[in-house]
Amino acid sequence: MSTPVVGRFAPTPSGYLHPGNLLCAMIAYLSARTQGGRCLLRIEDLDKARCPANLVRQCISDLDFLGFRWDGPILVQSERTPAYEAIFRRLLDTSRVYPCFCSRAQLHASQAPNRGDTLYVYPGTCRALSPAEIQQKMQEKVPAYRLHVPDTAITVQDRIQGPFTAGLADNPGDFILRRADGVFAYHLAVVIDDAESGVTEVVRGCDILSATPAQIYLQQLLGFPTPVYAHIPLLVGSDGRRLAKRNQAISLSALSKKYSAEEIIGALAAGAGLIPEWRPCTLESLMPAFDLSVLPRRDLCLPEGFPD
Ligand SMILES: [Zn+2]
Repeated sequence: MSTPVVGRFAPTPSGYLHPGNLLCAMIAYLSARTQGGRCLLRIEDLDKARCPANLVRQCISDLDFLGFRWDGPILVQSERTPAYEAIFRRLLDTSRVYPCFCSRAQLHASQAPNRGDTLYVYPGTCRALSPAEIQQKMQEKVPAYRLHVPDTAITVQDRIQGPFTAGLADNPGDFILRRADGVFAYHLAVVIDDAESGVTEVVRGCDILSATPAQIYLQQLLGFPTPVYAHIPLLVGSDGRRLAKRNQAISLSALSKKYSAEEIIGALAAGAGLIPEWRPCTLESLMPAFDLSVLPRRDLCLPEGFPD
């Protein structure tokens, strides 16, 4: 007997939900449900200052408006600090975690100016501090904590994007597990939450594909199973720009003033190629014919006439 599928949608409510988020929610939900599985909702509000309570509430009610009915209780990351702390302590006991005292300015200065948008790789400044140096620096500053990654490559077998390989030393390099202000890092929280919620399938935007090898490494280090991954293409607007990169993607709250929930679901489904033309439909009505493999690797566009 195979393990039942458990999927999840995990938005970061630092703004209003936009069609790009909703597309991820829809695909994750349909994929899990059509395999007879469950789909969970997790609010990724680790950085509480960026995710105020009103945006969290709006996110949950927007999804409800569109017809999502999540299985199990909603997991809220800002309430999970003790769980992250416990696993962080376990990692701290290995020799792979070290304190980093670098200031933002130091990290910025060590970054080659021509790297632009590409991934920042920490140069390892604090990796070899002696116990005496650490003790002395501790008196002046609360450090962040980084994970020393080995110089090995990890391959993600992605159901949509195919195999994706990254060498951990360059992608991401030694990454932060806990910030100096005590906030746990995204990678750590995601890996712990997925494992503790029994998530077997991760469907999310392909902007996170490059971060996946680091998460798989953490899973391996902690003895957690690695879920199946499907990184869906990002939505591009009629101007060809990715919606996620825009400062002002249209919010669901704005869309819902003009369109019904069924019209919005239908537009997303048509954009993903699940139905040939934009027409009103419900999540349930998309289930019988749902097929993840119709999703292309490249960017997706919403149907003409639908605002982006
Ligand atoms: Zn450092």
